[in-house]
Amino acid sequence: MTLNTIETSPPASADGPSEALGSPDLKTTLCHAGRHPEAHSGAVNVPVYHASTILFPTLQALDTKAEARVRYGRRGTPTTYALEEAVSALEGAEGTVLTPSGAMAITLTLLSHARPGAHFLIPDNAYGPCRHACNEIMIPMGVEVTFYDPAIGAGIAELLRDDTALIWLEAPGSQTFEMPDIPAIVAVAKAKGIPTAIDNTWAGGYFLRPLAMGVDFSVQAGTKYLCGHSDVMSGTIACGPGRHARMKDFAARMGACVGPDDAYLVLRGMRTMSVRMEQHYRAAVEIAEWLEDRPEVLRVMHPALPSDPGHAIWKRDFTGASGLFGFILKPVDRPRLARMMDGLRFFGMGASWGGFESLLIPTNPAALRSATNWAPGGQTMRMHVGLEAPGDLIADLAAGLERLG
Ligand SMILES: *Cc1c(COP(=O)(O)O)cnc(C)c1O
Repeated sequence: MTLNTIETSPPASADGPSEALGSPDLKTTLCHAGRHPEAHSGAVNVPVYHASTILFPTLQALDTKAEARVRYGRRGTPTTYALEEAVSALEGAEGTVLTPSGAMAITLTLLSHARPGAHFLIPDNAYGPCRHACNEIMIPMGVEVTFYDPAIGAGIAELLRDDTALIWLEAPGSQTFEMPDIPAIVAVAKAKGIPTAIDNTWAGGYFLRPLAMGVDFSVQAGTKYLCGHSDVMSGTIACGPGRHARMKDFAARMGACVGPDDAYLVLRGMRTMSVRMEQHYRAAVEIAEWLEDRPEVLRVMHPALPSDPGHAIWKRDFTGASGLFGFILKPVDRPRLARMMDGLRFFGMGASWGGFESLLIPTNPAALRSATNWAPGGQTMRMHVGLEAPGDLIADLAAGLERLG
């Protein structure tokens, strides 16, 4: 009797038959990574395994269960392992750790480097909850945190201390979209043996592959583009060479694990990710260019636009851009802004992004800064361009901007 048959999934290193042909394009990888039909009665998609207890058929198997790939639900099931494999293939990772949200992917990565006296460097435009986790969790634990100007580049060397234990990056920064010079920062970190981690949510791991640039951890909110349908909370920590085993154990000690239905949905989303990303990219550039010419708009913050200060870095390091960008409206009071926003037909107002639908919200980046100023001279906005026809979105926006009066 083989009760423990779900162990028969091949290990993460099994890359499929195309290995001999060289490394496939990411589009191909997204269709094939993590699938093992032979282990699942031929089903194209890995089934949803609901499991806490895993049974071992013999006392000897129980005694050696530490060697079993599937040994307890919290450590992972074939469903969550399939998602880990797919994210690892996408990000070029040694292995991936899943978390119940993007916020927890950030916090776990920070915590795994924390100890009293450790020093973290965090970009001043980091995702708000990353800053809050530093201020409200890390600092009370005795970690010292320096927020740095995201444009610092190689100048980060001057902020290093003897006990700098982690350099955080985000590309581009949340809400304001400045592009960091990743290779310059990584070179400084590597020279001192300091680990680096990046929030790679904006590019979805599809348009930027930071592990290939020497970053040690690439963190994503799987909630956004990996899932792509605004119906799952998910986080991923893709780990560079030599980094996975410890992070996996750390997450297990913290009790971080992910339900199989959520893992299944994120994996399902990844299968169509390349088509979605290419469409988000094209449509967002079209709308960003259109906004740039509008009299109501002071400035558009989109690194794929030649006018953007981060354009040269984006062109060097990225293969495309996602659907999220910012712009500054000329000064506008709240009632006039409400007239514009409340009448929009296709743009929703709400947190998160990365789904198939468009979103637009006003933001207040100045409230999330301590090392730099944000005074753009108008109202900062954040737009997510979904998969609707760009012409419909532009018509909706044109009518909205007219309502600003
Ligand atoms: C949304 C987001 C996160 C957090 O993801 P959740 O799944 O919402 O916790 C992390 N980083 C960035 C850049 C994000 O936009």
